[in-house]
Amino acid sequence: MTGPRIVIIGGGILGCTVAARLLECEPQARLSLVDQGLIGGGASMYSAGVHFPVGRSERVRRLSGASADYYQTLHARHPQLPMHGFDFFVAAGSADAEQVRARCAGLRPLSAEERRQVMPELPYGQEVWRMPDCHAMDVQGLAQWYARRLRERAELLEGVGVEAIREHVDGVSVLLSSGRSLAADAVVLCPGPWANEGCWRELTAALDIRVKKVVALHLQRPPEHGHALFFPVEDAFLAPLPQRGHWLFSYTCQQWDVTPDKCRQARVEARELDEAREALRGIAPALAQQLGSGRVFCDAYSPSREPLVQFVGRHQRILFAGAGNGSGYRLAPGIAAEALALLNHALTTG
Ligand SMILES: Cc1cc2nc3c(=O)[nH]c(=O)nc-3n(C[C@H](O)[C@H](O)[C@H](O)COP(=O)(O)OP(=O)(O)OC[C@H]3O[C@@H](n4cnc5c(N)ncnc54)[C@H](O)[C@@H]3O)c2cc1C
Repeated sequence: MTGPRIVIIGGGILGCTVAARLLECEPQARLSLVDQGLIGGGASMYSAGVHFPVGRSERVRRLSGASADYYQTLHARHPQLPMHGFDFFVAAGSADAEQVRARCAGLRPLSAEERRQVMPELPYGQEVWRMPDCHAMDVQGLAQWYARRLRERAELLEGVGVEAIREHVDGVSVLLSSGRSLAADAVVLCPGPWANEGCWRELTAALDIRVKKVVALHLQRPPEHGHALFFPVEDAFLAPLPQRGHWLFSYTCQQWDVTPDKCRQARVEARELDEAREALRGIAPALAQQLGSGRVFCDAYSPSREPLVQFVGRHQRILFAGAGNGSGYRLAPGIAAEALALLNHALTTG
């Protein structure tokens, strides 16, 4: 017996997770995963891989919780995965406490003594809570780990671009830069920040995705025994990255409508350092001067700031999954589960 023929376009963390989860629940599927570059070499390569249970909407909190469970089970089965758990705390002024409790799952308030230990230099008037189930992952490493295992059961095509997609009532054909054409029952489109590029731009236009620069700065500070801090009002976090031996400060850069191919050439600029120092000054002033380098790329953002999982095109055969909104790693297993449920429904009822 043979299963459906599925082509996944985009071998970032999302495309790889969809592929892995598809073969978990549909072992007979005939799967091709295509990436124009190397697996995990898009936005996933730049990701800080920080996971924490936060979401502005009920759906995002659910996706985040489902993903945390998935990663914990995966790590328990494969302890060699590049995943490091740490304590993660949320800090905000008392006036914002209610909003914080609504956005972050499973918070526990800290006593005054615990608070002093966590961050003695925290500005006056800040409350601190502990968040459960937080970790940092080498996201590119995880994508490559998935890929190594997928190669035994699926066709992985790297360095091969998708040049045309033609949808018919009973299938899709995908034309590759290598000249080959793949016939599929369905395509899952996971293009990350390339959502508005290439041959699918007309299909995705109605999704109103915008691409924003994402900047995270590195702090030369030993990560051992460190705990991470999330500042929801500023939408910023400080986290140790034990796998890389330094800390990271992520703040919200507001440069919109960039393209991934241009962002490949982007470097940390003085303006970004100034913005980040300004953001850090209000939170942990002593650390502001340690910022000097970091990582710059971009991500796809939806109008609702929730990930998008929906069919594009006319025949329910091309499923878009993406718009990570800067959280595409920590939501990937949940997004993949939603994508597979929709795909399964379309293929069994179509
Ligand atoms: C600096 C930075 C820090 C971040 N930190 C975090 C974090 O701490 N936690 C978190 O959860 N998220 C974080 N993110 C966001 C997260 O990294 C992204 O949301 C996630 O990696 C997106 O994964 P993806 O698989 O959708 O996209 P990608 O990883 O970009 O994968 C898309 C793939 O599609 C391929 N592709 C594009 N066009 C074609 C074509 N024509 N043919 C074939 N293949 C094609 C690309 O080559 C690419 O590999 C961060 C992002 C950045 C930039």
